Amino acid sequence: MTPFLDVSGVSFSYHTMEGETKALSHISFTVENGEFIAVVGPSGCGKSTLLTLLCGLAEPEEGAVLLNGLPVSQDHSRIGYMFQRDCLLEWRSVLSNVSLGLEIQRRLTPEAKKELLSMLETYGLGDFVNSRPSELSGGMRQRAALIRTLALKPDLLLLDEPFSALDYQTRLSVCDDISSILRASKKTAILVTHDLSEAISAADRVLVLSSRPGRLKAEIPLSFSGETRPIHRRNMPEFSSYFNLVWKELKSDDEHNS
Ligand code: ADP
Ligand code: MG
Repeated sequence: MTPFLDVSGVSFSYHTMEGETKALSHISFTVENGEFIAVVGPSGCGKSTLLTLLCGLAEPEEGAVLLNGLPVSQDHSRIGYMFQRDCLLEWRSVLSNVSLGLEIQRRLTPEAKKELLSMLETYGLGDFVNSRPSELSGGMRQRAALIRTLALKPDLLLLDEPFSALDYQTRLSVCDDISSILRASKKTAILVTHDLSEAISAADRVLVLSSRPGRLKAEIPLSFSGETRPIHRRNMPEFSSYFNLVWKELKSDDEHNS
């Protein structure tokens, strides 16, 4: 069967006035529909670059990225992208921020608006529909950013360090919230993070990248006896074994380089 996402032998370099920067080298992996993948690796190893290739914003110089067997540019799946910064517009209310994407695509029907209001309610923003983003906490802002992304009904969700601007406590609970939302809506998601605990607590599988140029060093499937909530997983005995495993994979890189 054709995998939902098929990344095969992908390499990518940036070319600037200063010269060439090889960012990714021969990356291959597949993702099934509904899977939640985390990608970890040291800062600058090419994680964000990988996401820009997955959504077709850049073309690999070698290898291919296929969605449902087709090059990303030809497949009609919708791809949602969530960044580290929430990019909410201060001059718009929370409701008009989360409806922005639909408005641009002229898909903001009364039904779609009703659905957005119900999502805002479900995700604890019901009382802030008419507030400005500046009145929200960091965690609430990230939830609003997620609703804005989900409103477009993406088939694949790419999350680039979406929690790293939050303080530790907020980060734990927002990660818990957001992964529950993603699992409830059965979204296929790829979460990039440099936080190993976050990756292990949230995902079905962790991909470990080496330092630049990013190579895929290990793929670690996670099994927590069916437990999917990050907050619960963190207290399970499997958690520290996985942490040690991922840590060991990441560190083996330093030894090669030193
Ligand atoms: P990560 O997200 O893992 O921190 P990035 O994918 O952002 O890493 O970057 C990988 C490497 O490519 C880094 O060395 C970075 O400096 C370089 N890089 C990223 N974007 C550009 C660009 N637009 N032009 C030139 N080099 C870039
Ligand atoms: Mg990055």
